[in-house]
Amino acid sequence: MPKTAISPSRAENYPEWYQQVVKAADLAETSDVRGCMVIKPWGYALWENIQRRLDTRFKETGHENAYFPLFIPMSFLEKEAEHVEGFAKECAVVTHHRLEPDGAGGLRPAPSAKLEEPLIVRPTSETIIGATFARWVQSYRDLPILINQWANVVRWELRTRMFLRTTEFLWQEGHTVHATRAEAEEETRKMLEVYADFAENAMAMPVICGEKTAGERFPGAVSTYSIEAMMQDRKALQAGTSHFLGQNFAHAQEIKFQSQSGDIEYAWTTSWGVSTRLIGGLIMTHADDDGLIAPPKLAPAHAVILPIYKSDEERAAVLAYCQALKSELEQQHYDGEAVRVRLDDRDLRGGEKKWQWVKRGVPLRIEVGPRDVAGDSTFVGRRDSDGKGAATPRAELVAQIGQTLDSIQQALFDRARRARDEASVVIDTLADFEAFFAEGQPGGLAYCHFTEGPEMEAKCKELKVTPRCVPLQPLLGDDGPGKCLFSGAPSQRRAVFARSY
Ligand code: AMP
Repeated sequence: MPKTAISPSRAENYPEWYQQVVKAADLAETSDVRGCMVIKPWGYALWENIQRRLDTRFKETGHENAYFPLFIPMSFLEKEAEHVEGFAKECAVVTHHRLEPDGAGGLRPAPSAKLEEPLIVRPTSETIIGATFARWVQSYRDLPILINQWANVVRWELRTRMFLRTTEFLWQEGHTVHATRAEAEEETRKMLEVYADFAENAMAMPVICGEKTAGERFPGAVSTYSIEAMMQDRKALQAGTSHFLGQNFAHAQEIKFQSQSGDIEYAWTTSWGVSTRLIGGLIMTHADDDGLIAPPKLAPAHAVILPIYKSDEERAAVLAYCQALKSELEQQHYDGEAVRVRLDDRDLRGGEKKWQWVKRGVPLRIEVGPRDVAGDSTFVGRRDSDGKGAATPRAELVAQIGQTLDSIQQALFDRARRARDEASVVIDTLADFEAFFAEGQPGGLAYCHFTEGPEMEAKCKELKVTPRCVPLQPLLGDDGPGKCLFSGAPSQRRAVFARSY
């Protein structure tokens, strides 16, 4: 067995491998607060790159950023019955606004400072933003309202896992108001496409776009769409959601407007979000037994230069060469951005230094020793391939860096898509479904005819599987109507079933 930097390997213990990659890549660590993590600079740089690109796309599609309160008055949540039912069980509630000595050397919330109405730490902001929109919208001329907020939210999750599911997480939430149903539906689908494009092109993570079944819908939504990705352990990850809220929140919050013909009408709203979960998806899609592999478009650094020397004299010559190389590379562009280069001249053993960057997933490692300096060359290792690397003339490295990064980006996407396609099957009998998801089997994505009901629910629960979505453009099994696997009832479409995060 070849020795790997991450132990255990994916094959040995996938969940533990994931935690070890997060640690070894220096992305985040657990905190003193239950279920909440500390995002470290390397992880936060990934998030900033995700934010920057998404933010550009949101603005290109006509949205503006704004910011709304962290706290939501409890009565706001009560207004939409399904919404409150969905979120009530995972809310952090603020009840006091002052502490006082408890008489035993500690502190307690001051009974005299009890809030008349408790405040909820936002689990999502439909209610507070909707209440604001009700004031902003008077006439059809005020519509559409296209707002995005970058924020943190809190959901009291019982089972947490770094990035994938945390109690507090960072996200963006889009909230829009429209005059017509058609416009709001179009917005919902448009933002799903923005997410899908971002996932596939920037994250190199193939996704299935689809509609959630009724049982998996966002509380209060008329329809929920999601992008679903498959991780290397063949479990699905809901990577982003876009909700058509119909007039539910407009009714609950009185978002009304005077139409062109003078009538007072309720507006149509949408909401959509992606979170720091994307970083978990990126890790579980691309990382290997040596650590993270960052797709070049989001990598905090595209390349790291590692000077190698023994004597002080060598050090001076090698460092000068490396500094010049760094500024040459930084003048190059990849995907519309200047190439991001780190020069690691820390006084650390060469092997240890190199492995730190392997584990952090930098796409290109450029080693430079005295012999490279003499030959105007470099030694370049690609993080996406197993090879040790290859001698590369400096001029060639500089001239081709954009192409090289692009080929890494593409190779990562191709590899992930191959893995997903290999794990995707069309299933038409219950026996095959049970065999596919049986204990000890690798599982994957099963495309099956279905109708929602107790038969489907019971079988899914038994096998720990969920319907992930009904694909908008089926990748497999696009064969028209059929028969529900679980009840035998007629079915119009297939859903993708999988175990999931
Ligand atoms: P929702 O408002 O429930 O549609 O959530 C929007 C997105 O946030 C989901 O598609 C997930 O990708 C992500 N998300 C939901 N819950 C969590 C959590 N506890 N931690 C991290 N991300 C989450």
